[in-house]
Amino acid sequence: MTAYDDLMAFQRQTEALAQVAGRLGWDQETMMPRGAAEQRSEELAAMEGVLHARRTDPRIADWLAASDPADPVGRAQVRLIRRSYDRAVKVPARLAEEIARVTSVAQGIWAGARAADDVAAFLPVLTEVIGLRREEAACLARGGDPYDALIDDYEPGMTAVDIGALFDRMRPRLVALRAAVLASPHQPQPLEGHFGTEAQLRLARDLATAFGYNWDNGRLDLAVHPFSSGSGADVRITTRVVETDPFNCLYSTIHEVGHACYELGIDPDYALTPLGSGVSMGVHESQSRIYENQLGRGRAFTGWLHGQMRDRFGDFGIASPDAFHGTVNRVRPGYIRTEADEVQYNLHIMMRFDLERALMRGDLAPRDLEAAWNDRFLADFGVAVDRPSHGMLQDVHWSVGLFGYFPTYALGNIYAGCLYQALRAAVPDLDAQLAQGDTSGATGWLRENLQRHGGLYAPREVVTRACGFAPTEGPLLDYLEAKFGEIYRL
Ligand code: ZN
Repeated sequence: MTAYDDLMAFQRQTEALAQVAGRLGWDQETMMPRGAAEQRSEELAAMEGVLHARRTDPRIADWLAASDPADPVGRAQVRLIRRSYDRAVKVPARLAEEIARVTSVAQGIWAGARAADDVAAFLPVLTEVIGLRREEAACLARGGDPYDALIDDYEPGMTAVDIGALFDRMRPRLVALRAAVLASPHQPQPLEGHFGTEAQLRLARDLATAFGYNWDNGRLDLAVHPFSSGSGADVRITTRVVETDPFNCLYSTIHEVGHACYELGIDPDYALTPLGSGVSMGVHESQSRIYENQLGRGRAFTGWLHGQMRDRFGDFGIASPDAFHGTVNRVRPGYIRTEADEVQYNLHIMMRFDLERALMRGDLAPRDLEAAWNDRFLADFGVAVDRPSHGMLQDVHWSVGLFGYFPTYALGNIYAGCLYQALRAAVPDLDAQLAQGDTSGATGWLRENLQRHGGLYAPREVVTRACGFAPTEGPLLDYLEAKFGEIYRL
């Protein structure tokens, strides 16, 4: 056994235990009896303790020092293990435990505060979470920008300066497009009516199948907030049902299928190694977004979906496939990020990016966050926030300490725009396939050119390799202007 073999054998067990911890999380959101919450948090904390001890095990430093694999896969494994080890040992165990403890409590407090529209009930714990994450960021940054250190956890190699410049270039075109869309006399029809739960779930399953989800390695369950979970041979998805809004269930299912297919599409040789999961949150989101938006909300696929909806729900008041495409992509003012259309979604992210950057720098005090949020929302969206659950209490992220995570949603959209441009060039009859409900040309191309690599290449590198050009915001903005220009006859 070489040092590299020892390192990989040890790492494999760590990865397996991390999958077990993830499955406890999945169970908590889907199956767990309500009375088990307290015990579950203790079970998860125990797993977290085991994982943290393994990730900071001093033998890793020795094995790394003695490992020098010649092949690119081995070198990538070593690079990722070193990255994770260096990060883990920079943060004192006391601080890591304190963050885990406080954020697990904070999520419950946030949920109660959101339900009661009570910012004051959330502020003390939010202030604590922000303080702890700033302390952690200072340990990680070692003199650099602390917010960059947090972004690096989710999107390795990306910085706040790069993201800020990207957003500055995107904003004017998005704002102009939204203004034109909202002012257009050609407004799509809203979807109205009642759509039964069982029929929605049957169609959601058929959509997952249509997008290539492998039911031998997955399952679909209900959860309050849809998510996907797991890597390797066990990647599960969840959805939710609103009987007046079937698009909620159908498109969150397609979104989660995109995440799951990324994990399932990774080379099986990488399973239970650092290469065996998606390389970054931004690249992950690029897969969920391209499945959901560029493919699932495109004119070709919605034509097929319109027929499916009529077969299952009868006449639901939208007669033509063109009208249905408009309905699916309807742009309306709204407070909620997760319900935002493709035109406005990135504007929600830009606002969160600026606010959390200010919080992490100490330029904005947590007690001033609500006023800052409301002022900014009015300026960016032209609407006054009517209650905190429509404002700063709407997202779970900050309660669990996820600072630096929001920008990865916009990066995912940008990568998806680039990948879609490359995909269209590579699969000339893409629309004809999608119009038959056949996504295999698109999903096969994504698996072959991006998904199968897992963590082998850095985030921007894997997108660049797939597209043949370095990712920029241009293709996404061109796509949005063309798509919404056609729907709204601009
Ligand atoms: Zn997602």
